[in-house]
Amino acid sequence: MRRRTFTTAFALGVPALALGAPALADGPPAAWTPARSRALRDRAAQLTPRMTDRARRLMAVADSERLVDAGTLERAIDGSQHECAPTGLTQWLGEQVTDFTDEDLAIITGLFLMEWPMLHALLFEPDGPQHYGPDGEYTKAITKTFRTLQKFWDVDGSHIRLAAMHSDLLVDVDATTALAELLFELPTPEARELATEVAAFLSQPKFGGGRHPLFSFNAFAFSDQALLGDEGLGSKIIMGDGMLQALDALGLGDVAPQGILAHEYGHQLQFSLGLGAEEQSPEATRLTELEADAFSGYYLSHPRGERLRNRRVEAFLYAYFQLGDCAFDDPGHHGTPNQRAEAGHWAYDLANAKGAKGHVRPAAQVSTLFREDLPEILAPDA
Ligand SMILES: [Zn+2]
Repeated sequence: MRRRTFTTAFALGVPALALGAPALADGPPAAWTPARSRALRDRAAQLTPRMTDRARRLMAVADSERLVDAGTLERAIDGSQHECAPTGLTQWLGEQVTDFTDEDLAIITGLFLMEWPMLHALLFEPDGPQHYGPDGEYTKAITKTFRTLQKFWDVDGSHIRLAAMHSDLLVDVDATTALAELLFELPTPEARELATEVAAFLSQPKFGGGRHPLFSFNAFAFSDQALLGDEGLGSKIIMGDGMLQALDALGLGDVAPQGILAHEYGHQLQFSLGLGAEEQSPEATRLTELEADAFSGYYLSHPRGERLRNRRVEAFLYAYFQLGDCAFDDPGHHGTPNQRAEAGHWAYDLANAKGAKGHVRPAAQVSTLFREDLPEILAPDA
């Protein structure tokens, strides 16, 4: 009965049986068909322009950390366009999406599916105990690092909440119904219909049954005071599984969970200390990003932090944010990989300077020193 009602009411132009795909918990989903794919693509095209202002504002929170956007994905799928960032993360991502079709791409980008787990984490997590990595493989490293960071820095971080972002959120129809309502201002039954169809789409093996790393390929930090005053969401750091899996696959599993978290924690230090960018410019973004790298590098290499060797810290910083865009000719999106590695090197020297004797400098002082030395850090690619 329910199926029939939905079909009549929302006529996506596909057969009733296909439309009312059973919830995943009821057993294997009905086979995905080209007709359903076309219908979902057409639906996505209708919905794209209906994205709400609130969704746009919330999505902007992760802008500075967004490594994969529609353009990146398109280039990754079209293997002939790898010249923008030829190694590391881009190559890895390209290997994960070889069997995606143009129609898949239109559905994923048209419905902003790469943003759904991010929006859910932003609005609703942490809702209970969190695990990090699809199977909790990074839980220990991340929770331990978070505790250590809170003790390491002199700035009070007890208000910061840490949450996970999982790709399989996309096949949780209850959760995604709420997101479809928010994104496109759909009435609940129509939002649920869309959420059900999205879950069925992503249950295809090539999307890992909804666990594909593409959909959680990010980590970010935000605070009400800096970014979301009217939302009342507090201060959070969100750690996406996909990003952790990618860096692990590149042989950086011993440093990436700690390094990414320490970078996002660095943004929280900036929020608390009022060090955020005052204007929206490439130079301002580059400064705050490189400074977050410096906070991260200082913590990673400090004897009272992670005590890692400089080589590991540099390897991490070089790989992290290597992805993204063809923006290396944009004078300052995130800084070039060389500049990021240089920020790490600078932080290593500061953390291990003669006479430092394990003393941890106040975060504000690290920032002041960093900003004084910024011209030299930029020099390799200035
Ligand atoms: Zn950042």
